[in-house]
Amino acid sequence: MDKKNEAELLSFNANKKWLSLPKETRSELVRNVWCSSCIDVVQIEKYIIEETKFGIALQGTCKHCGKRVARAIEID
Ligand SMILES: [Zn+2]
Repeated sequence: MDKKNEAELLSFNANKKWLSLPKETRSELVRNVWCSSCIDVVQIEKYIIEETKFGIALQGTCKHCGKRVARAIEID
């Protein structure tokens, strides 16, 4: 398997985990991301889902300032 396919498979698993969360939980998580640039809780935009050791992480940009923000989510 080449690197690209591997990355796609990982994001597929991560997306599956993300979609296993209730819709309300997901929209709440998306709206509650800390932005160190705004020094506030913001909404994450244009995010991708990545697998982490503890679950998944959202990687994207702040809706207000456009800086990179991330949110880790623990999933069993
Ligand atoms: Zn911001």
